[in-house]
Amino acid sequence: MKKHNYSAGPCILPQEVFEKSAAAVLDFNQSGLSILEISHRSKDFVAVMEEARALALELLGLTGKGYQALFLSSGASLEFLMVPYNLMKTGGKAAYLDTGTWANNAITEAKAFGETVVVASSKADNYTYIPKDYTIPVDADYFHCTSNNTIFGTQMKTFPKTNVPMVCDMSSDIFSRVMDFSQFDLIYAGAQKNMGPAGTTLVVVKEEILGKTGRAIPAMLDYQKHIKAESMYNTPAVFPIYVSLLTMQWLKNKGGIAAMEKENEAKAALLYNEIDRNPLFRGTVAKEDRSPMNAVFLLEDESHTAEFDAMWKAAGISGITGHRSVGGYRASMYNALPIESVQVLVDVMKEFEKKHNY
Ligand SMILES: *Cc1c(COP(=O)(O)O)cnc(C)c1O
Repeated sequence: MKKHNYSAGPCILPQEVFEKSAAAVLDFNQSGLSILEISHRSKDFVAVMEEARALALELLGLTGKGYQALFLSSGASLEFLMVPYNLMKTGGKAAYLDTGTWANNAITEAKAFGETVVVASSKADNYTYIPKDYTIPVDADYFHCTSNNTIFGTQMKTFPKTNVPMVCDMSSDIFSRVMDFSQFDLIYAGAQKNMGPAGTTLVVVKEEILGKTGRAIPAMLDYQKHIKAESMYNTPAVFPIYVSLLTMQWLKNKGGIAAMEKENEAKAALLYNEIDRNPLFRGTVAKEDRSPMNAVFLLEDESHTAEFDAMWKAAGISGITGHRSVGGYRASMYNALPIESVQVLVDVMKEFEKKHNY
């Protein structure tokens, strides 16, 4: 039986994407070849890459606005390093907002390149809220933020107005909500949270911000080299990119990000209402900063952990055990998770409450 998959990443993908991917492994486009054995320079795969790059920009509303989409290898964590490499001037400085573990990792990498100003941090409160009052130095080469904090379950609802180029790690909420994406100059997202399988990272960058650092950049880390090579500077992650394309096509057919956002809001409301209503559970973060993607919650009485765990496992739920830095539970409700799965979890929480005679 197919599980209700709440995994934080790699995560659930649409069933039809699994089916089409499986078919392409056996015979891609009736070519008599598997997608796993074709050349990345073959006409069929070049078409996949072109469509994936164009569709990413289309879904974000960035077509024709001076942006390039790249599908790079080696994860969002490499972007922590590529961003300062490509954007921080020699002797320049960068500004970062510290909202969680991933933001912190990005800050650590930037520090190796130059002056790195942390404009605000919620670390002292174990990242249970998004800092809102801060000033971005006007002479920073860029400002970096994390739109959704996967581990702690917070999300930025608004972004600062600044003349400094804005860089955003959207790994865990890309394509999940409507935004003016043109307020960002560089967006990146590891595919495995909300866009596809592990193995590729989407980078969307406004070309005009590149090439200004005065720094020698190794080819594989140079966005301009990847753009020039049309995201094929080296052998790209053929299969993860194909599966990401199928997921983006699924999203477009559903009505794009606007339709997705409605579903995500309904799923989040269903679960958070139960967390707030049910006296046996408690949310961990400031309500106004709650993430619709990753809901983090605790049992009021941890001595009931084994009992509750047995109940959700019996209901076919997978992957809601919390991250070690918070404990408790984390229910990740990415785009492909159906609302029916959320209802199953809510029903288990209600059943658990009944057993305890509230
Ligand atoms: C998972 C995650 C990362 C790290 O992604 P990798 O592809 O594993 O390097 C970075 N940022 C955020 C917000 C994440 O959720």
